[in-house]
Amino acid sequence: MSNQQAVLRIPEVAPELKEVEVVPEAVVAGDHPTVLAMADSLSTMGISVTLIHPYKEIEEIVAHMRGLMEADEEVSKKYAFLCEKVAANKSIKVMSEATVDDVSGWWGNFSVGILQKGTSVTLKTSGIAVAYKGNPVLPEAFSAEGIKSFSDFLAQFDMRKGALKEATNPAKRVAFVLDVDGRDEKWASVTALRFGAYLKGFGSQVYILCRDFKVSVDDMEREYRLAREAGILIFKYRDYPRIEGKRIIFQDASAVSEKAPLDVVLDDVDAIVIQEKVVPSKGQEEFLGWLKIPQEGGFVGPNNPQFIGRTPKKGVVVAGDTWYPEYPTDGYVTALSAAAELYKWIGRGTYQVDIQRVAEVDPSKCATCLTCYRICPHDSIRIERYGERNVYITKGEKEGATWEAARVKVETCNGCGLCASECPAKAIQLVYYPDLEVLEFLEKT
Ligand code: SF4
Ligand code: SF4
Repeated sequence: MSNQQAVLRIPEVAPELKEVEVVPEAVVAGDHPTVLAMADSLSTMGISVTLIHPYKEIEEIVAHMRGLMEADEEVSKKYAFLCEKVAANKSIKVMSEATVDDVSGWWGNFSVGILQKGTSVTLKTSGIAVAYKGNPVLPEAFSAEGIKSFSDFLAQFDMRKGALKEATNPAKRVAFVLDVDGRDEKWASVTALRFGAYLKGFGSQVYILCRDFKVSVDDMEREYRLAREAGILIFKYRDYPRIEGKRIIFQDASAVSEKAPLDVVLDDVDAIVIQEKVVPSKGQEEFLGWLKIPQEGGFVGPNNPQFIGRTPKKGVVVAGDTWYPEYPTDGYVTALSAAAELYKWIGRGTYQVDIQRVAEVDPSKCATCLTCYRICPHDSIRIERYGERNVYITKGEKEGATWEAARVKVETCNGCGLCASECPAKAIQLVYYPDLEVLEFLEKT
């Protein structure tokens, strides 16, 4: 069945439209520099903004930025400028040394609990934009013990410190080891290349070991070509590289056959830079949990790659590592998209409450095949216990029986119809819920 057919199964209903007032105000919160971009952009669009950050001075939002942002002077300057602009903007109310302590409600009517210097405050607001910084951790594959033999060991977020030291005491051979955690994060490729080029300038031999080198950032293809011309060697490895003493050993993925592996040994490497895994901060996990926003690995982006900065929760947008660890130029674009998305909900002063299309499962028909669970782009389907597994029975026929079936979370379903079109048991229909019904549902759950 096609998507269109699925949509055609919606019963005819007369939409009940209602104009409601929405105050154009937003809380922007978090410790990631992209909060500055969101606060500035929303303020420029006429939204009244309260910026909540944990530092004593607003400048610290930028000062605490990670080494990877420092890899790019242009980005660094842009955020420093943004910081000055936001600090000078008298229409943005800034709450320093403050963190979000609780959130509840819905679009147009959120209640945000804030803890500031030991005092609790509650703000009412129409929309929320957050951007938290993740915590970088070393992949387990590289224990601190295993890399002791290097005279210089740097985690990727600390590259700047190491690179500055190079000016007086350049390492002869430096290896970057990327993608150890297997996650596709292009910030790691971009910063390795830019810092690699910097180190090359001091005469170091630079190796970059990765699973997949990513160049989809402005100007990166040109920089990649220049780096190769300058002698930076980039290898794609098959399995995690092994570290033995000051040697790094790996199988080059360009070997034609796995049966005839091409082993590469880098000897006498005296500095190593390892990509860290970025894990969500506690604040971020709590925030997403309070609002029941689906996440994958603690990030919102992988579930919603086609809606940059948007969450399935109306009136809540995200950037920074709350969206996904990104290269700072990409992060800036995500922040602007998030602000524009929020404007759509709260910027006009009024909003027409419409009907919302959501999927609904008939558990008596569900065969628990997990198709819908796997394909839902908004992570809105769960398998719940209703009765006997994989048995087609009419609802209520076997009283007291408990079988498993899919259930749609209406609060996050976007009504795209994918699940309905793919369900082999034709167990899913798209139905209309007025927004107010969704809100009622949310209040009950
Ligand atoms: S695709 Fe259909 S049959 Fe399969 S789990 Fe979902 S609702 Fe049940
Ligand atoms: S209609 Fe809802 S539950 Fe079904 S795939 Fe789309 S978002 Fe997921």
